[in-house]
Amino acid sequence: MSDTAQSARPGTLYIVATPIGNLRDITLRALDILKSADIVAAEDTRVTSGLLSAYGIQTKLYAYHEHNEHAAAESLLRELQTGKSIALVSDAGTPGISDPGAHIAVQARQAGVKVVPIPGASAAAAVMSVAGNTEGRWLFHGFLPHKAGARQRELETLRALPMPILFYESPHRIVECIADLETVLGPERRLLIAREVTKLFETIHDCALGEASAWLAADANRQRGEFVLLVSGAVASPDAGMEQAQALLEVLLDELPASQAVRLAARISGQRKNALYDLAQRLKPE
Ligand code: SAM
Repeated sequence: MSDTAQSARPGTLYIVATPIGNLRDITLRALDILKSADIVAAEDTRVTSGLLSAYGIQTKLYAYHEHNEHAAAESLLRELQTGKSIALVSDAGTPGISDPGAHIAVQARQAGVKVVPIPGASAAAAVMSVAGNTEGRWLFHGFLPHKAGARQRELETLRALPMPILFYESPHRIVECIADLETVLGPERRLLIAREVTKLFETIHDCALGEASAWLAADANRQRGEFVLLVSGAVASPDAGMEQAQALLEVLLDELPASQAVRLAARISGQRKNALYDLAQRLKPE
C-alpha cells in the first residue's frame, strides 16, 4: 500500500469522488489529484469551486454536465490525447453513480486513455454501512421515474425481488415516492429513510413502510434535504411455489390425463409428484 502523495499523470482521466455534504469527507488522494491535474471537469463549476477553494486548490475548471455530456466528452478527450491530465468530479459523491461521468469513462477507455478511479464518499455506500443489511446482497436502483404512473409501473417490476432495494430521491418527490412505495410494495416491509447524510441535520429513521408517510407528515423538516431510501425485499411465501404449480397443473389438466399432467407439472415446477397428485384429485376428481 502506497502512502506517498501522488501527482496526476499526463494523459490520464481520474474519476474523483468528492464529499456528499461534509467537506472533510474527501480523501488525501483526491486532494493530490485535484491539485495536480491540468483540468478539473465539474458537473457544476460553482459547487466544485466551493470545494476547491476550501482546500486552496486553483486548478482550472471546465463545465461537464448531462446536457453537454457528449460534446464536452469529445473536447476533454482531445485534451487527454494531447497529454493533459483531467480530474472529473460531480456535485457530490462518486461520479457515474446516478451522476454524469459514465459517457466519458467509456469513450476515454475506448480511445486507449487510462481511466483511474479515486474512490471516496457515495450516499449509497454510506447508508449501506449503517443499514445492518444481514442479507449480503442488495440492489442499487437510484432514482425512480418522476411521473407517478411511470414510477408505479417501475415499482411493479421490482415487487417480487427478494433483496433490499436502495433508491435515491429528492425533496420534491419524497412524499409521493413514499406513498407509491407503500401502495405497490405493501405496508409491511421495512424502510430505512436516510436524509442529509453527513450534514448538520442527518436523520436515519427505520420504520415499517406503512408508517413512513405519517412520520414524514409529522414534521415538515423531515421532508427537506437529500434522501436515500432502503426498502426490504419481498418475503417469499412458503406456498408461492405450490401456488405456481397449481396454476400450471390446472392448465395441463384441461388438456391431458391426470397422470400425465401431474408428471409434467412435477418436472416443470420441481414440486413433489405425490402432492401434485393429491391436488389433481381435488381439482378434477376422476
Ligand atoms: N453520485 C452521488 C453518490 O455517489 O451518492 C449521487 C448523486 S445523485 C445526482 C444525488 C442523490 O444522491 C440525491 O438526490 C440523494 O438521493 C442522494 N444523496 C446525495 N447526497 C446525499 C446525502 N448527503 N444524504 C442523503 N442522500 C444523498
